[in-house]
Amino acid sequence: MRIVLLGPPGAGKGTQSVRLAHRLQVCHLSTGEMLRQACDEKTALGLQAAQFMQQGQLVPDAMVEALVLERLAEPECNKGCVLDGFPRTLPQAINLDKWLNDQGHNPLIVLELSVPKEELFERLAKRGREDDGREIVAERLEQYKEKTRPLTDYYEKKGVLELVDGHGTPDEVFDRIVRIVENRTKP
Ligand code: AMP
Repeated sequence: MRIVLLGPPGAGKGTQSVRLAHRLQVCHLSTGEMLRQACDEKTALGLQAAQFMQQGQLVPDAMVEALVLERLAEPECNKGCVLDGFPRTLPQAINLDKWLNDQGHNPLIVLELSVPKEELFERLAKRGREDDGREIVAERLEQYKEKTRPLTDYYEKKGVLELVDGHGTPDEVFDRIVRIVENRTKP
């Protein structure tokens, strides 16, 4: 089972995707985390990615795709995975579908978390990550609107999109997610 969590920064993708991966006993892949790790380790990719991340911009598709597809092909992901923060652009989504298809895997389940904008800012202010400053967040939301939101249509047309109300406590949101996934995977 391969699940994608979609949603703007602060929607709860990180928290929910870790819990979901744990519940389903599949691996959790966060491109944000992988990129932050590469930045900390000052790898060539990390140094390049940092320039985009510090400005709240998306890292170029080819760099992120290389990271993710390499991990997806590892044995730990054989049973499935929960993807957090990938895909974030239409080309990434198309290449992911192509990869899944080439590998003979089932189509994705895509969960889109929606949270009112004021609540997003509140949550991000509490989180306090390096790229959570107000100006950078504004840019990240802009990038989301422009580049990631088209994925909603793309996945809707494929019949794999599920909308999740991301308002409420983490437990409440998680219960909604589990119910949706169980319904989708019922024999
Ligand atoms: P996140 O932790 O998912 O919010 O990601 C943090 C930052 O990493 C984003 O603001 C982007 O700069 C970069 N990033 C993470 N995932 C992707 C992706 N799929 N495509 C491009 N950039 C990404």
